[in-house]
Amino acid sequence: MTAFMNLHDFLPLGPVPEDEDISLSPSMINTAQVCMRLVGYKRAKLSSVSVPQNLVFGSALHWVIEGYLKGFINPSPEEMAERFGQKFEALRVGRLIAMAKTKTTEIQEVIGRKLAMGFPSYFENLGIRPVVIEGNFKLKIGPREYINMVIDFVGVCERPIYGPDEELLADVGDTVILDWKTASMSAGDLFVQYGYQLTYYWLAVTLACDRLGIKPPKLCGYAEGFKPNVSKLNSTSLNNAVWKPIHWAKRRQSDLDEAVAYALVVAKRLRAGEFHRAPHMGYNSPCDTATGKCDMAGICLDGSLAGYKNPKGFNLAVLV
Ligand code: SF4
Repeated sequence: MTAFMNLHDFLPLGPVPEDEDISLSPSMINTAQVCMRLVGYKRAKLSSVSVPQNLVFGSALHWVIEGYLKGFINPSPEEMAERFGQKFEALRVGRLIAMAKTKTTEIQEVIGRKLAMGFPSYFENLGIRPVVIEGNFKLKIGPREYINMVIDFVGVCERPIYGPDEELLADVGDTVILDWKTASMSAGDLFVQYGYQLTYYWLAVTLACDRLGIKPPKLCGYAEGFKPNVSKLNSTSLNNAVWKPIHWAKRRQSDLDEAVAYALVVAKRLRAGEFHRAPHMGYNSPCDTATGKCDMAGICLDGSLAGYKNPKGFNLAVLV
């Protein structure tokens, strides 16, 4: 008698049994919007050997912001800058760093120090009392389907928030949700208005607001620290490394419904073990764009494992 074995049944790339939970994250869902195959590589824990410098930068800045908000880092500008510098260094030591395309490590450090220094006064000007800082939330979206997320900040307004035309957007006591972002390009209007990440946050806070003792969310947005593109340490443009005014947005019930429906599509793909390239790869593909290839382009397009961590020892035939 011959026994047949489906190799996919034993891999994270294979189907997930009906009685097993599926956990998604907003970033995984975001990746799925670009390419389900990329989700497959990440699920197999295949990753680049090097750590992107921008990731190290973001982690260090998040840490110093959290420290300030939770009160374990002194809010003086010098202390904030110093603690950023220490964390940025500690996260880099002993790791292979993939340099940012436009900035040296020294420039990133100067920008990070400036943003860290400026954060306490920026935050105090917002007039928002923190309720949740780096809070874990888990949304149940199906019988065995969940979205896990860490929300940077949920707070309650201590002062009204007005829009660009002086219209009242949120009053004292209203709940707002924020995500800290740093980039040299601002998050576009459409991303702020419709991006799924803030939509899942909105839904999670809506469901948890009674237990948190706060009102349902009134506004959400990105607090953006601008990273100017400079190449010299003495460039005056470094002074542009500041926190930008928040572009506030709301979410409607239809936004929530659509975001959950899409998450269920992603969960269904994972359940079925389907990680195909998307039809839109044929035109203007993210595999090879003007801004740089997809992180997995080496293995996916060129078939080379060089430069990748392959923790479970998968071979190319199994992965692709
Ligand atoms: S190279 Fe293209 S098809 Fe392959 S994972 Fe990346 S985006 Fe998807």
